[in-house]
Amino acid sequence: MKNLDHWIGGCVVAPGSGTYFDDLNPIDDSCYARVAVGNADDVDRAVETAHQAFLKHRDMTAAVREGWMAKAAEIMERDAALFQDVLVDEIGSPIAKAGFETRFAVNFLRAATGVPRRIRGETIPSDTPGRFSMSLRHPVGVVAGITPFNVPLIKGIKQSAMALATGNAFVLLPSEAAPRIADLLAALWSEAGVPDGLFNVVYGNGAEIGDVLTGHPKIASITFTGSSRVGKHIAGIAAKSLKKYTLELGGKSPLIVCADADIEKAVGAALFSIFMYQGQVCMGASRIYVERPIFEAFSHAFAAATAKAKVGELREPGTMLGPIISERQRERVRRHIDDARTKGAEVLAGAQWSGNSCAATVLSGVTADMTVFAEETFGPVTSLYPFDTLEDAIELANDTEYGLSASIFTRDLDKALHFARRAEAGMVHINAPTLHDEPHVPFGGTKASGFGREGTETDLEIMTEWKWVTIQSATAAPGGH
Ligand code: NAD
Repeated sequence: MKNLDHWIGGCVVAPGSGTYFDDLNPIDDSCYARVAVGNADDVDRAVETAHQAFLKHRDMTAAVREGWMAKAAEIMERDAALFQDVLVDEIGSPIAKAGFETRFAVNFLRAATGVPRRIRGETIPSDTPGRFSMSLRHPVGVVAGITPFNVPLIKGIKQSAMALATGNAFVLLPSEAAPRIADLLAALWSEAGVPDGLFNVVYGNGAEIGDVLTGHPKIASITFTGSSRVGKHIAGIAAKSLKKYTLELGGKSPLIVCADADIEKAVGAALFSIFMYQGQVCMGASRIYVERPIFEAFSHAFAAATAKAKVGELREPGTMLGPIISERQRERVRRHIDDARTKGAEVLAGAQWSGNSCAATVLSGVTADMTVFAEETFGPVTSLYPFDTLEDAIELANDTEYGLSASIFTRDLDKALHFARRAEAGMVHINAPTLHDEPHVPFGGTKASGFGREGTETDLEIMTEWKWVTIQSATAAPGGH
């Protein structure tokens, strides 16, 4: 079994608390790793170390940082099997999801090779005669990254690669349920040539030490992915000290199926959108709205396809669903299903458990008084609702506190674009699943789903600071026009 200590200044550092917690394998709740319980002093040490490393290396050239990204991509491709093994055994990822996550991380690193040379300012016409005016973009200093349990590699790579590519130092607080990926990232960046102290990891309970990290005076920017509850709390802390931040939060994403849609394609996309990685995906299509003339046909086809979605051996390529991450999450999934059933919803498929895994579950007849109607389940559960007109569908889709992703299936492009304009969501996909990401797009949500956008372009907003610089020429004619 692996013992995980903090990674600070290029060294393995034992926790000040002297204690370790169990990181559980969700398949059977056996202990997967023993992990350092970080305290406030550990966080302070990591941030101070990062700050010193930033001061030492702040003038590193773009070419050097480009080299780290390229080398890291090579290493991750070489070690893909190891990363996948951890994603399977630590957080219960079916191999298809683990493979996708690893390939995405490699692609992100490749895209990030282009970032260092693109950090550019402008020359600006000046109103003052003889004044040369320009803007520069500087790294902010030390960036704090906080990751969720479900995609710890994608988020760990997005956050750390962007911080390092833009010339910052980075401190990662990984999810307590997925710390081992952070340990692999420490080895990755080290081998890629990143100097000691620019990438650091502190383990521990986010609820106990998260505020020390995000509130630390030497943290300039925060990039957080997790629940809306914790995201709102972090926004409060960042606001008090005027830090920059990006929040990638929860969702309750709608998928609309119009009567003219290709039903087979819509069924396949809906299945992938909600049941991939047992529904523990922020963009999961947990609300499916179907135009009334095809509601029955779609419900039958979707329930039949759902019944075939396999809960199984995680390393079998055909397995779509595995165990739910923790007892707390399992309790939430059970509560949402039981509450809906008790209040009269019909179970069209699933709602059965084997060990820690819940079968892919489809509900119909869900009403506003049921918990599953509005709350994020973050499990393999979706609800089908009929609608009559596109305007109704838009109103229903927007009737949520969240605004992450939304999809529409139709052959009518005008309808689809009208939906794309009106949907209160950060991302809209036409004739495609709600679940999609690419390295260079503005990824993120609106309303309770987030603030700011992730990606190799949009992340520059929180990873760099503008500076306006002018030079007054001594030879310019005074007061000229
Ligand atoms: P969570 O909010 O419980 O935990 C996320 C992280 O926050 C963990 O590392 C935790 O230790 C840390 N944390 C807890 N309290 C903190 C505090 N006070 N200060 C700083 N950090 C603190 O979320 P989770 O259960 O790990 O992940 C599931 C949630 O994440 C879902 O809501 C899901 O929709 C969301 N998510 C969003 C995206 C996205 O890109 N929008 C992607 C993945 C997951």
